Amino acid sequence: MVSSADSAKNSLWAQTAKEPAVAADPFRADQTYDLAIIGGGITGTSAALAAAEQGARVVQLEARHIGWGGSGRNGGQVIPGLKLDPSEMRAAYGEKAGARLTAEVGGNADLVFSLIEKHKISCDTARSGWIQAAHAPTALGRVQQRGREWAELGAPVEMLDKPALEALTGTSRYYGGWRDKRAGTLQPLAYTRGLARAAKQTGVVLHEDAAVRGLRRDGTLWRLATAHGEVAAKKVVLGPDGYADPLVRGLAQTLICVQSAIVATEPMPAELRAAIMPGGICASETRRLAFYFRQSPDGRLVFGGRGAAGDKEKASFHRALVEAMHRIFPATRPLAVSHRWSGQVALTLDGLPHIHEPQPQMYIGIGYNGRGVAMGTLMGRWLAALALQGAQPPLPVTPLSPIPLHQFRMPGVQAGIAWAWLRDRMGFAE
Ligand SMILES: Cc1cc2nc3c(=O)[nH]c(=O)nc-3n(C[C@H](O)[C@H](O)[C@H](O)COP(=O)(O)OP(=O)(O)OC[C@H]3O[C@@H](n4cnc5c(N)ncnc54)[C@H](O)[C@@H]3O)c2cc1C
Repeated sequence: MVSSADSAKNSLWAQTAKEPAVAADPFRADQTYDLAIIGGGITGTSAALAAAEQGARVVQLEARHIGWGGSGRNGGQVIPGLKLDPSEMRAAYGEKAGARLTAEVGGNADLVFSLIEKHKISCDTARSGWIQAAHAPTALGRVQQRGREWAELGAPVEMLDKPALEALTGTSRYYGGWRDKRAGTLQPLAYTRGLARAAKQTGVVLHEDAAVRGLRRDGTLWRLATAHGEVAAKKVVLGPDGYADPLVRGLAQTLICVQSAIVATEPMPAELRAAIMPGGICASETRRLAFYFRQSPDGRLVFGGRGAAGDKEKASFHRALVEAMHRIFPATRPLAVSHRWSGQVALTLDGLPHIHEPQPQMYIGIGYNGRGVAMGTLMGRWLAALALQGAQPPLPVTPLSPIPLHQFRMPGVQAGIAWAWLRDRMGFAE
């Protein structure tokens, strides 16, 4: 069995990124910075760029290489918003704070595409929207209500009945849905590398193969220990998402991590490219273990879903994913599957990303629940502003609160996932 962590190299994105890997800096021990950033994904890199733009001296430390985590291996769907609808955000945080949160998260896809344009990041963008497809009649009213709420706020959205959804996606499996035209697709590894290139050009010092193994307070400084030596910083930002290790005690226990896996077909013939997810559109569905899909720039169907817990990548999980793809898009049956990979998705109990300040001058943005491309980009900017100016983000900044009985939850999660897949295969998820 392959390690899910190591499967990053098998991803379509690792083989097709137009942005080259960013050259890291040689490690210079005993340097002092304003801000140290731990993690080389979208969150950490966006934070590094934003902090350097503000004139801070920034060092970024990544255990493997830029984009190695979820950021370089995800589905590349740039989806605005959170799992809460605008009215739910206002109910949860009050009118004023809820409205601010809605405006900021509603604009996070705009932020992504504006950074791509500003820094000329070569990452195969398309901005044709994201469809949320109702897998059951009961789910349709709920998702269309979500669409209507965004429409009332002026967002460019479209309600889709069954034929309209079928015309846009090429599948008749869904009952309708809505389309959010703020959304789009990109090549995620190229995007992350492009952000890192821009950060380096703005003055960020980047160290790769530099896992931070120790973090200790020394007067007004944080000291970060790596195998190469130590660096010091006044403040620390962490963006480890599904790859949170024991560095910060209790952090991993605030999350439930599950694998999300992706398969990609060989390039489709022209008639299938025109029929199945054409024109850069992307979609996911309302099922609890939702499938998500899009075309790659070279005309493959890229199809993902959630599966096992833990690091072992099971061939049976990828097979089940291919079967699901064939059920939803029967015309893909004759196509060979050219790529299979997976990564960790960090889930929180409330389905929202969290911002933690477990100790003074240490800030963590984590728990994107599988939607970190746009949200991680915005989170990075929030974290930089919080660390450097004390600017309060629109989500609460909290201490760590580990999930009670965390170690006993994983077997239950595993069993729940297996049950959901079984129901899906037997047709009960309908
Ligand atoms: C298969 C898959 C498909 C997905 N599809 C989508 C999608 O289509 N759209 C979407 O919006 N989201 C998607 N997501 C979620 C999204 O990829 C993540 O939420 C996002 O990439 C998180 O970014 P990040 O920078 O916070 O963390 P990551 O990109 O995971 O980066 C964390 C980094 O921290 C490093 N690190 C951890 N500990 C240390 C340490 N002690 N020292 C140094 N470095 C450390 C790790 O090596 C890692 O590189 C998907 C995720 C997966 C796995």
